[in-house]
Amino acid sequence: MSEERVYHGIPVSPGIAAGKTYVFDHEEDTITKKQLTEADIPIEIVRLEKALIETRREITEIQKKIADSIGVTHAEIFNAHLLVLEDRTFLEEIIKEIEASKVNVEFVFINVMEKYVRAFSEIEDDYLKERISDIQDVGKRVLHNLLGKRRKDLSTLEDEVIVIAFDLSPSDTALMHKDNVIAFATDIGGKTSHTAIMARSIGIPAVVGLHNLSQQVLTGDDIIIDGNKGIVYVNPSDNTKQFYTDKKFQFLDYEKHLESVRDLPSVTKDGKTVVLQANIEMPEDIPSIISHGAKGIGLYRTEFIYMNRSDLPSEEEQYIAYRKAAEAMAPKSVVIRTMDMGGDKFLSHLQLPKEMNPFLGWRAIRFCLERHDIFKTQLKAILRASEFGNVKMMYPMISGINEIKQAKVILDEAKEELKKENKHFDENMPVGAMIEIPSAAITADIMAKHVDFFSIGTNDLIQYSLAVDRVNEKIAYLYDPMHPAVLRLVKRVIDAAHDAGITVSMCGEMAGDPASVVFLVAMGIDELSMSPFSIPEIKTLIRNLDFSEMKQVVDRIMKMETPEEISSLANKCVEKYLPEIFQYKF
Ligand code: PEP
Ligand code: MG
Repeated sequence: MSEERVYHGIPVSPGIAAGKTYVFDHEEDTITKKQLTEADIPIEIVRLEKALIETRREITEIQKKIADSIGVTHAEIFNAHLLVLEDRTFLEEIIKEIEASKVNVEFVFINVMEKYVRAFSEIEDDYLKERISDIQDVGKRVLHNLLGKRRKDLSTLEDEVIVIAFDLSPSDTALMHKDNVIAFATDIGGKTSHTAIMARSIGIPAVVGLHNLSQQVLTGDDIIIDGNKGIVYVNPSDNTKQFYTDKKFQFLDYEKHLESVRDLPSVTKDGKTVVLQANIEMPEDIPSIISHGAKGIGLYRTEFIYMNRSDLPSEEEQYIAYRKAAEAMAPKSVVIRTMDMGGDKFLSHLQLPKEMNPFLGWRAIRFCLERHDIFKTQLKAILRASEFGNVKMMYPMISGINEIKQAKVILDEAKEELKKENKHFDENMPVGAMIEIPSAAITADIMAKHVDFFSIGTNDLIQYSLAVDRVNEKIAYLYDPMHPAVLRLVKRVIDAAHDAGITVSMCGEMAGDPASVVFLVAMGIDELSMSPFSIPEIKTLIRNLDFSEMKQVVDRIMKMETPEEISSLANKCVEKYLPEIFQYKF
């Protein structure tokens, strides 16, 4: 039996999982040019035909799986892929080129495909431009079949596995099903990358920042993932297996213990209420947030509606999704954030230019204020959903009040259009701003005059105020919610909101971190929105807290000079107010 190997990374989603690995990679195919003899030509053409048949089989299989699991509308996206496979001009050009140049089919295929992609990208037609990703996607599948490789797709896994990858994009993660993927571990990434956030919202253990783990394991290896400590064991020894079987039971006991607070109010010992809400990425997350006792949705990340597809979602499709959330939660509130594309979330089919600093680039509200067509469609869908519950809307990545004013112009246009179309909406739907850029936090007093509420996005606020890329594991040690600069900014925003008489919520990952929550409550935060799995733990902590006692420490924290000093105080508070976390000792 092989030796046990231990790897240390960053724990990003709690829990313990043991099983077999599935190594998922995105390696590029290398295509070499081979000269053919006359006799090889028919053989090459047969190879092409076989690859096309296999690709068609694969696509219809995926279509069926998606139709069964997510819905027919999502499955229909693949019709465009099937059409590419049937395009006679495209296929005849490949065959003619094989005959004329006497070169192997893979080489010809890739050249013809690239020619089509170039031609489509030069045409000024959005519909045709969007077809580029269909061609590329189908092209990759055909190429894999020509090369005899199975294309990997996380939505089609059949066995229960632990996924190991160099990296996983949020769109890869969106295709994972909890039934098949029981945990994952990646070489790169940080605690607040969207992939990590999604692991927490699906509720599977995950560890990132493992350097070159993906090169050290093979599919089918035995593995244990400790998502509490950030440790990965490949070929675990019998002792380790036993140790983790016990730990897993302890962790399940802890979760069970926390369940007892599910229906109890989130209120401190001395009566201060802190509303606990959940963050969601897709309407499918709703049952889980209800079962964890969320008092509403504090952040609906709508960009996921735009992912894993080759077209843009229509107003109707978005309206149905938002309405579903509004109705499921009513009368509790649902805060829908307008799409925050960019950073680590890309919409490949939009063919946006690659940027040197995507987190500082053309993303979120900046993108929406230029692509009014896409933005207004979403605004109309949100407005229409507002009729069916307690819907609020907020803009991501606001840097100053000009963006709020510009967004308002488009929102007013959207309202006018809906009125003309005789479609109903809540005229007074509250509109808020995410405070996640230091400029917005510093000018929170000015911002507060222009919006109905604030929601502090600490994932970005920390990365921008400390200049630490949130997905870069090399500098993850600098990414610290306990940095005095972060806590001062947060306090400033809470105070400015309260001075202006508006509510302030937090929807960054800090809101689900017990050590941070003791201080946030002390500073007077009104609402916290987090992964549903964190709610019972945070509620237990809040119910044990003494608000008036904690309030006394705020001045002391504001005077502290280092993250270590602040962390040590936070840990003492957690020990006092959430002793369970130590009792169960994971
Ligand atoms: C944040 O930045 O804290 C936030 C909640 O938004 P996102 O993680 O989607 O960038
Ligand atoms: Mg953000």
